[in-house]
Amino acid sequence: MTELNNSELIRLSAAQLAVKLAAREVTSVEVTQAYLDRIADVDGQVNAFLHVNAEEALAVAAEVDAIRAAGGAEAEELHELAGVPIAVKDLIVTIGQPTTAGSKILEGWHSPYDATVIKKLRAAKMPILGKTNLDEFAMGSSTEHSAYGPTRNPWDLDRIPGGSGGGSAAAVAAFEAPLALGTDTGGSIRQPGAVTGTVGMKPTYGAVSRYGAIAMASSLDQIGPVSRTVLDSALLQEVIGGHDPFDSTSLTDPFDTLVAAAKTGNVKGMKIGIVKELHGEGYQAGVENRFNESLELLKEAGAEIVEVSCPNFKYALGAYYLIMPSEVSSNLAKFDGVRYGLRVLPKDGPMTIERVMGATRAAGFGDEVKRRIILGTYALSAGYYDAYYGSAQKVRTLIQRDFDAAFAQADVLISPTAPTTAFRLGEKLDDPLAMYLNDVATIPANMAGIPGLSLPGGLADEDGLPVGIQLLAPAREDARLYRVGAVLESLLEEKWGGPLLAQAPELKNAALGTASNSAGGSN
Ligand code: GLN
Repeated sequence: MTELNNSELIRLSAAQLAVKLAAREVTSVEVTQAYLDRIADVDGQVNAFLHVNAEEALAVAAEVDAIRAAGGAEAEELHELAGVPIAVKDLIVTIGQPTTAGSKILEGWHSPYDATVIKKLRAAKMPILGKTNLDEFAMGSSTEHSAYGPTRNPWDLDRIPGGSGGGSAAAVAAFEAPLALGTDTGGSIRQPGAVTGTVGMKPTYGAVSRYGAIAMASSLDQIGPVSRTVLDSALLQEVIGGHDPFDSTSLTDPFDTLVAAAKTGNVKGMKIGIVKELHGEGYQAGVENRFNESLELLKEAGAEIVEVSCPNFKYALGAYYLIMPSEVSSNLAKFDGVRYGLRVLPKDGPMTIERVMGATRAAGFGDEVKRRIILGTYALSAGYYDAYYGSAQKVRTLIQRDFDAAFAQADVLISPTAPTTAFRLGEKLDDPLAMYLNDVATIPANMAGIPGLSLPGGLADEDGLPVGIQLLAPAREDARLYRVGAVLESLLEEKWGGPLLAQAPELKNAALGTASNSAGGSN
């Protein structure tokens, strides 16, 4: 039906696809099949998917096509993104597909219910292509902590795609999906976005329901969009957002001006604050160069650039690595070998519940997860609680106050998303602290619950790899990020002569390996 070949079709943005689907220039089955073919061609190398949901995705696509072909009221009521496929981070529970959280402990487990965001994708009739790879229980910055093998960066297959949501970011960057869902506890949507040249948005805490996202650190976790354009993220956030009675932290704000903001981008007269503590020393030269270039472009477009200081940000990483593991140790206590997934029986000795639990957790959890459970248990133990967890909570308040002061001087804040471009697989695997440092610029937003958007800022001079630019706004001002992000994106694309991803090297076709599809059975 369409005049576009598959390679062109999969390179369209979600917004462009939506227009073509509504005009019936292309069918959802064609689009969905083109993506499934792409997954079959390249995912053997990228390993973005843990499970491919071909049959169900095509059935949803066919349903949308039939409604559109019949016309009438039902066709008119279809959501704008109806028929546009999407991939989902495998931390979000889904009926009909396995959910592993990247862990052996949940291998083969199927959720009896859908996350709220999944219900919303189904209501919008967006075909779900499958579940994407992640660091185990979302703990990591490289996707190397997945029990199902690392995901690779489509820009350079020897490099990490970021983490924990490396699968979602790599799928979108490799044109295996136009959109994806991620979760961001300390940067897991934004940092993978930065290192893969894609867009990643962490909404305001509570703007998108967390019901059905397997909890890592509940006071920091947030589901959000992964896409190739700022407008696409806004479109997706409007689908998945909104109040949910199943999530007691869910906000009642409508968040319904996001798409309009992305379409009417404007920075004239806006004050954009450079955070002194979030660039400079420790940041790669090429990252700094692209960051400065973005500042120049925003200035030319009429924004006023000011400098702000957030002196307590230097404690953010330390406080995060107390609060997050504390919540992790409590949230992961439910994986006891009784209720979910794996059960390992002790080899000998008495068969007590404690020993079954111990054997199951020893076999089911990977090293990074164990490290954090031990850290968190220690930080919360009697006698240490005030010294560690209590102090970290006080730092959290100081970070929120720093943001309040900064937003009194600027409408949005700007920084590089990550201090470096994608590092090599294995480079930081034996050095957890070096890995943790990659989140230095993204963590403050989670500590304060504010929204953060990462968009591609160009390629670093020294290695030719993508650099991310992060924009931050006060809580509930997600629309402001889309407004500013859309301007910066269009100025940068003008400079590059098109989207940054067009400069990514072509992936050679390679058959889908069995390893990438082993999680939780067949597809
Ligand atoms: N990389 C960070 C960590 O390891 C953030 C993880 C996340 O956002 N899920 O904790």
